Amino acid sequence: MRLTGDYHTHSKYSRNNHGKNTIAEMVATAEQKGLSSYGISDHGPAHLLFGIRRKNIDKAKNEIESLKKETKLNLFFGIEANLIKKDGSIDLSEQEIEKLDLLLVGYHRGTVTNFYSKIRNLFKPKKQKQINTQAYINCLNKYHVDILTHINEYIRVDVEAVARAAKERGTLIELNNKHIRFNAQEAEGLKRSGCKFIISSDAHKKEDIARVDRAMEFVQKYSIDPERIVNIDKLYK
Ligand SMILES: [Zn+2]
Ligand SMILES: [Zn+2]
Repeated sequence: MRLTGDYHTHSKYSRNNHGKNTIAEMVATAEQKGLSSYGISDHGPAHLLFGIRRKNIDKAKNEIESLKKETKLNLFFGIEANLIKKDGSIDLSEQEIEKLDLLLVGYHRGTVTNFYSKIRNLFKPKKQKQINTQAYINCLNKYHVDILTHINEYIRVDVEAVARAAKERGTLIELNNKHIRFNAQEAEGLKRSGCKFIISSDAHKKEDIARVDRAMEFVQKYSIDPERIVNIDKLYK
């Protein structure tokens, strides 16, 4: 199986040296690695340390728009927005979302929000899991999310319930090479849900683009049907 596109990668716009390379360097490497599609999706602006600065959203978009004219890759401008509230809100305005080719949403530590403070229900893990699950479902109902990144990482959710909601809304569930936290039961839940998957490297430096060995191992371990993964070439053995 061969990866056709890698849509979740970070550039220097993920601040404080979190992303190591410029957009141009990342795109050149994606091309060298033989992908046909490629996306940059830096951290959303509410992340205190790593988030893209709001004023740089247009700048990043313009860089990608001009690279689109030079490369044979199908290039996508995305942001990995932060899920910030129990009601499913993310850290991008409607106008900012309109600028994107792809909207990715994930939950991250280091985002100061009322969701973050209320969600830490340490002595009631079951209740917390319900709140988390509902936050994701609310988010899917509120926005047209293309990809949910690394669900069940950092905060626990009912994986099957989130995946079912994603299926209904046409949102892809990510199998993230760096953050893949599903036990056997949860993996079965993902399979039962009928959702579609996308595999991502979550590269923060150019060398890691298209590096998806761990995600592929997961696919094999749990016999996930390749037909349900949108970004692999099934004919390629
Ligand atoms: Zn990151
Ligand atoms: Zn992430």
